Amino acid sequence: MTRNVVILGAGVSGLTVAYLLSKQTQYSITVLAKHMPGDYDIEYASPWAGANYMPVANEGTRHQEWETNTWAPLKALAENHPESGVYFQKAVVYNRKKDLEPGGRLVHRLSETWPVYKEFSQHELSPEMDNGHEYTSVCINTAMYLPWLVGHCVKAGVVFKRAVVKHIANAATGHHSGKMAEVVINCTGLSSNALGGVMDENMRPARGQIVLVRNDAGPMWTTSGTDDGTDEAVYTMTRAAGGGTILGGTYQLDDWNPNPDPKTAERIMKRAVAIAPQLVGPGEEIEGLDVIRHGVGLRPWRKGGPRVQKDQIDGVKVVHNYGHGGFGYQASFGCADEVVTLVDELLEGRSRSNL
Ligand code: FAD
Repeated sequence: MTRNVVILGAGVSGLTVAYLLSKQTQYSITVLAKHMPGDYDIEYASPWAGANYMPVANEGTRHQEWETNTWAPLKALAENHPESGVYFQKAVVYNRKKDLEPGGRLVHRLSETWPVYKEFSQHELSPEMDNGHEYTSVCINTAMYLPWLVGHCVKAGVVFKRAVVKHIANAATGHHSGKMAEVVINCTGLSSNALGGVMDENMRPARGQIVLVRNDAGPMWTTSGTDDGTDEAVYTMTRAAGGGTILGGTYQLDDWNPNPDPKTAERIMKRAVAIAPQLVGPGEEIEGLDVIRHGVGLRPWRKGGPRVQKDQIDGVKVVHNYGHGGFGYQASFGCADEVVTLVDELLEGRSRSNL
């Protein structure tokens, strides 16, 4: 029996759900979205991400399960599908004890069993760093990866339609068959704060400003914090297949400004060149950077963590999958797996009650 499903949202959250759900042939899937891969917009976080895999979840949480369950699929993409834009890249992380103090940034958590995990000894660190390590991660070229997901979904029969939906229940009428969808999956990211029927007051933007350059930083470099304020960060991510290098960044809660700030951009570039001098030629500073684009994305931060949950709104069965903050890629498969289980449960429940 065919089950009609609508997925609202075509960021990494919606597309990963579509990708996994479309492997089950009973589902007939429509993805409705205001923005699609190829668009760059302040209401669309996914294209702006670096993106890499750097686990940050606390021990024993659902968040940790989502991140853990995402590593194997990303690793498989890097091994078997270079055309996805996901590839292995060394990540180097430096930590300062002061960033671990209350008010400091959360740092990266990694088990000792991680591939090519190495702790730096004191003589390998600059004086301002207290410890550091390197490990095998992946870097995701979002400009390749999001269209790759769309391509796979289209091949599996998923239909993509542009639409702006004012109320979540209305999405059920948007299935390409013309019939009502049995389940709507809400993957609207930050816009869940304004979507009718959802209006989640726990949603807040965590503004991330970036600079995309043609220069090559080699490995991905980052630190636990900077001296430019707790809402500023430094990281570099060299994307696959000529995708350029992302220099970041900021993590500015409640800042909705969609425009790159030139002073912030200058600080981002200075910090990047300081941590990865190989970005520029000998003796060069930021004038050696060849800028492709300045950008801003709003991470969909949610108080209490992402919402991956069943719901019923105005008689429509809904599964929510939003609020992934700065870890939407590295938790994408773990969350999408759970969404598929919830959809199965909802429709299974319906079948049983109909007997
Ligand atoms: P979005 O990508 O925002 O997609 C929302 C979708 O919903 C869009 O298609 C939109 O058009 C649609 N939509 C919304 N409302 C409606 C409506 N009413 N009607 C129709 N359509 C609607 N994550 C990592 O894992 N690793 C990283 O290294 C990383 N780096 C980042 C760096 C920056 C600068 C930023 C900004 C983010 C970063 N992230 C990273 C976080 C990651 O990008 C986000 O968590 C993720 O993209 C969120 O995806 P999403 O699909 O939930 O939302």
